[in-house]
Amino acid sequence: MLVQGRKVLITGGSRGIGRALVSEYLREGASVWYLGLRKGDFEEYQRIAQASGAQVSFAECDVADAAALTGAAKDAVKAAGGFDVLVNNAGITRDGLSFRMALKDWNDVLATNLTAAFLLSQIVVQDMFMKKIAGAVVNISSIVGVMGNGGQVNYAASKAGLIGFTKSLAREVAPRNIRVNAVAPGFIQTSMTDKLNEEQKAALEKQIPMARLGGPEDVAKAALFLSCDLSSYITGHVLHVTGGLGM
Ligand code: NDP
Repeated sequence: MLVQGRKVLITGGSRGIGRALVSEYLREGASVWYLGLRKGDFEEYQRIAQASGAQVSFAECDVADAAALTGAAKDAVKAAGGFDVLVNNAGITRDGLSFRMALKDWNDVLATNLTAAFLLSQIVVQDMFMKKIAGAVVNISSIVGVMGNGGQVNYAASKAGLIGFTKSLAREVAPRNIRVNAVAPGFIQTSMTDKLNEEQKAALEKQIPMARLGGPEDVAKAALFLSCDLSSYITGHVLHVTGGLGM
């Protein structure tokens, strides 16, 4: 088991990539705390946890609400006694052309996708620092943060921001043996991409060298790699999980 006995905090574990993250970490022996708006299939998580001798806990929290997030993070750190791994996964899109984009759509996306990662890291990584835990942070960015995408200025800015955040925090905490990396997924089959119609999906597949969308587990496995001992000398890296898109 790759992360046996480790303690992992994940945001947005109810569905999509978050669901794959919670499941993969539990399967690999880690105990998982996840924060989010909804619990998802908690019974399934409990079954996986039981099989690998791990534990799973959920706390309801809107990560875009700074006060709620800070409170939930402090409670989780106290209950777990500190985390070895933090995965900033919760994310939203509010697409629209920039000239027509409402300030609220800009602010909501930045608060959920970027500011939440900053606030959570302040609490969780500082705790790793104080307790001398050789921890790992994995930020779920996006290939859109690298390439840009028309109609997604807010989302692309948040995901590019996460990359700058990842590299800067990595430099700050590297001397303490805390690693900070990002995963930049391409187009992954979740409710986020279910909004695309068949024509749009076919057009996308033409741009992807591997000619297919990825699955949530492809992203979860990359995050797992970046947070286990297999990647112990890797920090400040952005791992593309895109089937070749953007290379
Ligand atoms: P989904 O829309 O399927 O899931 C999003 C998750 O984030 C859900 O668990 C949701 O919780 C949670 N979430 C959203 N807003 C909040 C909030 N305010 N507070 C707490 N939790 C929240 O998306 P994906 O699984 O596809 O995306 C996961 C991450 O991967 C995101 O950061 C996304 O940007 C990124 N990504 C996805 C790609 C894709 O193609 N799918 C490509 C590149 C990056 P709830 O169910 O309760 O709403």
